[in-house]
Amino acid sequence: MSTEIIPTETQQHVLELREQIENANYRYYVLDDPTLSDVAYDTLLRELRALEEQYPTLITPESPTQTVGVEFITTFAPIEHQVPMLSLDNAFNAEELREWEARIRRTMGASEEFAIEYVCELKIDGSAVSLTYTNGKFQRGGTRGNGILGEDITLNLKAISALPMQLSPLPSTNPPMQSLFDEPEQSGIPTTIEIRGEVFLSHPEFARINSEMEEKGGKTFANPRNAAAGSLRQKDPRVTATRHLDVFLYTVGECEGWAFGSQLELLQTYRAWGLKTNPNVALCKNIEEVIQYCDEWHSRKETLPYDTDGVVVKVNDFALQRELGQVSRSPRWAIAYKYPPLQVRTVLERIEIQVGRTGALTPVAYLKPVAVGGVVVSRATLHNEDEIRRKGVRVGDTVIVQRAGEVIPEIVEVVLSERTGTEEEYIFPTLCPSCMEESVKPEGEAVRRCINEDCPSKLQARIEHFVSRGAMDIEGLGEKQVEQLIAQGLVQDVADLYQLSLTPLLTIERMGEKLATKILQNIENSRTRPLSRLLFGLGLRHVGEHVAEVLANHFGTLEALQVANVETLEQVHEIGRTTAESVVQWFANPRHNELILELLRVGVAPQSTAVESVSKEFEGKTFVFTGAMTLKREEAETMIKARGGRASGSVSKQTSYVVAGENAGSKLLKATQLGITVLTEPEFLEMCQE
Ligand code: NAD
Repeated sequence: MSTEIIPTETQQHVLELREQIENANYRYYVLDDPTLSDVAYDTLLRELRALEEQYPTLITPESPTQTVGVEFITTFAPIEHQVPMLSLDNAFNAEELREWEARIRRTMGASEEFAIEYVCELKIDGSAVSLTYTNGKFQRGGTRGNGILGEDITLNLKAISALPMQLSPLPSTNPPMQSLFDEPEQSGIPTTIEIRGEVFLSHPEFARINSEMEEKGGKTFANPRNAAAGSLRQKDPRVTATRHLDVFLYTVGECEGWAFGSQLELLQTYRAWGLKTNPNVALCKNIEEVIQYCDEWHSRKETLPYDTDGVVVKVNDFALQRELGQVSRSPRWAIAYKYPPLQVRTVLERIEIQVGRTGALTPVAYLKPVAVGGVVVSRATLHNEDEIRRKGVRVGDTVIVQRAGEVIPEIVEVVLSERTGTEEEYIFPTLCPSCMEESVKPEGEAVRRCINEDCPSKLQARIEHFVSRGAMDIEGLGEKQVEQLIAQGLVQDVADLYQLSLTPLLTIERMGEKLATKILQNIENSRTRPLSRLLFGLGLRHVGEHVAEVLANHFGTLEALQVANVETLEQVHEIGRTTAESVVQWFANPRHNELILELLRVGVAPQSTAVESVSKEFEGKTFVFTGAMTLKREEAETMIKARGGRASGSVSKQTSYVVAGENAGSKLLKATQLGITVLTEPEFLEMCQE
C-alpha cells in the first residue's frame, strides 16, 4: 500500500482534467459536434496520463485514460462487442515511434537482432464500426460506443453501398502468395466473423452534404469525420443512404472457422472476400522504414480525397500480437502516429465579441485570410478574456494559427519578433456588444457573461439551439432565417415559433412558398417531441442531451420537474449538486415560468418517456447484463425499471449486480475483480418474482 501524499491541488487538477475530457468526449462521440481541437484534447489526455503515472493511486477504472469512447448509449439499441473495440496509443514524432518499438522489445524480452515486421496503414478519420457476417452473410453491425457496448446501426450500415451484404468465398485453388496483394491460401469463408473498419465520407460528398444543409437552413457539419458519424447515427436509414458513405475494413473481432496468420494476410483475405481495404499499405522490415512511410504520407495526405489523421502501425505477425496483448484501452502491438497539426502565420486584424446562448462573451480573432491545409481560414477563437491575456495577443500581431482535428482554428502564439510597436492591446469590453448592457464576470470564472434576458444575440443563439437537431429538430430554420425572424419582430422567444403563419414567413429573404410550408410543417411536427428534447432545447445550464433524458425519464412531466427541489433532484442517479441547483434556479425565474406556460398554451405537448415503476424493490440498484441470455436485453431492462432499478452498459464500483449469461467476457471478469455479486439468469428471474 502506497503511503505517498498527493497534493490536494494535484487531486483537484486530475478531477478537472477528467471532467474536461469527459465533456469533450460527449461532444465528440455523442453529439458529433466537438468544441475542442484534437490537439487540445490529446494534450489534456496526456497531462492526465502523466499525473496518473506519477501517482498511480489516483487511477480509477472510469478514468478516461482507462476507457474508450463514452458510456452513453442514446438513440439505438445496444450491441455488445464480445471482443472489445479498443482505442490506440499515440505517437507524435519519430522518437516516440522508436520508444514504442523499444517498449515492444522490452515486453517480449527480444534483443535488437530479433526482426519485427510492421504493417503501416493510413489512419482513416471516420467512425469505427464492427460488422458481423455469418456464413458470409451480413447480419448486424454497430458503432464502437464505449468499446464493449456500441449502438446497433444495422439498418444504416445496410444503406452503405460500398459494404457487401454477402462475402465471396475463396476458391480452393489459390497459388502460394508472392506479392503484397496476392490472394491467401485458405479457401471458403468463416462461420462467424466480426469485420471491423472505418466508415468515412469523401471530401466531395462532405462538401455536397454541407451545401445542401446550408441551403435548407440547417446546421452544417464541422468536418467529414463528424459528418460520417452523424450520418451513421441517423434515425432514418433512407437519410443515411443519401449520404454516400464509404468504408475501409482493416481488423477483426470475434472469429470462428478461420485463422489469420498476420495483418497483411488479413487485408489480403478481406480484399478477396470482396471487402474494401485501403490500397496504401506497406510492409516495413523495421521501425526506420515505418518512419519513412509516416513522413511520406505526411506530405502526401492532401492528395487523398478523404481525411486521414495519421498512420496506424501494427506488428504484422498475429502470434507476436497475441504475445504482446493489451493495456487497459489499447493494444501494445499497434500505435497511431498522428500528423503534427497544421500551423501557419498570419496577421490578426481585429477582435470581435460573439455572444452565445448562455450570454458567454467569446472573443473571435479576425485574421488576414490564409490557407491552412487546403482550407482558407479567416477567423479563429480566442476562447475568453483570460486567454487573450495569457497569450498576450494584440490587434495587429503576427500570430501562429493552427487547424487541428479540422475543427475551429485557434491561435497558438504571437510571433513576438514581428512586433513593430504599432500593435494595440485589446481592452475586453464590459458592456455586451449586442445589447450594450453591463456584463458580469463571476469571481473565479474565466468567462464574462451578458445577463440581460432580452439581449438579441442571446435570443438568436437560444432559438438556434431550440430548433437544432438534438432538440426540437425544426429543419429549415438556420442562422440567417432566425436572424430575420428576430429582426422583423416575428419571434421574441421560442414560443413565438408556434404562432408563425405563411404570409409573414414569406417576407423573409429567399423564402419561397414551398420552403415556408415545409418549415411550418416541421414546426407543427415538433410540438410532440419527447420531453427530454424540449428540456434540452430550453437550454438550462448543465442540462445537455443526456442529462435532459435522465430528468425526463425520472420526472415524466414538466410540471413534476418544475416543483422538484435541489434535494429531490440530487437523489436522481447521475444528477449532481451543480445541475440540481441550475435546474431549480431556472424554474425559479418568473420569465421561464411564463415561457413554459406560453409553450403549453400554443400547443407544445412534450411526450413523456418516463417508465412507470410499479414497485421500489430495486431502488438504488444498478444491474449490468453480459453474455448470451434467453431473456431479451430490453425485456430485462424494463423489468428492472419497473422495480425502480437501473440498467447500465458498463461495470463499475457503482454496479450492484452483474447478470452473466453464456460466454460472458470482460464484464464478468471486471465484476469479479471488483467483488460485485454475479447472478445467473435464473437467479435474476427469481429475484424479480420475490
Ligand atoms: P484514435 O483516433 O487515436 O485511434 C483509434 C481509432 O483509429 C480506432 O478506433 C479506429 O476507429 C481508427 N482507425 C482508423 N484507421 C485505422 C486503421 N487503419 N487501423 C486501426 N484503426 C484505425 O483513438 P479514439 O479513441 O478513436 O479517439 C481518440 C482521438 O479522437 C483523440 O486522440 C482525439 O484526437 C480525438 N477526440 C477528439 C475530441 C475533441 O474534443 N476534439 C474528443 C474525443 C476524441
